[in-house]
Amino acid sequence: MTGDKYTLLPPHLPADEPPPGAVLADLGKLDHINTYGDLPRYYIDYPFTCIDCGKREVWTALQQKWYYEEAKGHIWAVAVRCRACRRARKAPESCR
Ligand SMILES: [Zn+2]
Repeated sequence: MTGDKYTLLPPHLPADEPPPGAVLADLGKLDHINTYGDLPRYYIDYPFTCIDCGKREVWTALQQKWYYEEAKGHIWAVAVRCRACRRARKAPESCR
């Protein structure tokens, strides 16, 4: 990855006041992210288009919270593939 020199948050993690329906971030669970204060304060639903099949899907605020706080995902990682394509990549044809 080449995102090391960036200091701004990804576009789906705004630094403004949380809008209605936002899921608040638990900063205590984001201590694996070393960005000197640029931690997300909340998550909001993030619509995206799958780079593999072109399907439009929503990466929900709760999925983001789980990904960053429980799965300890990298803060720069955003959803780029729909659920079906992610599953297809994890389970090769030979496994069926
Ligand atoms: Zn897809």
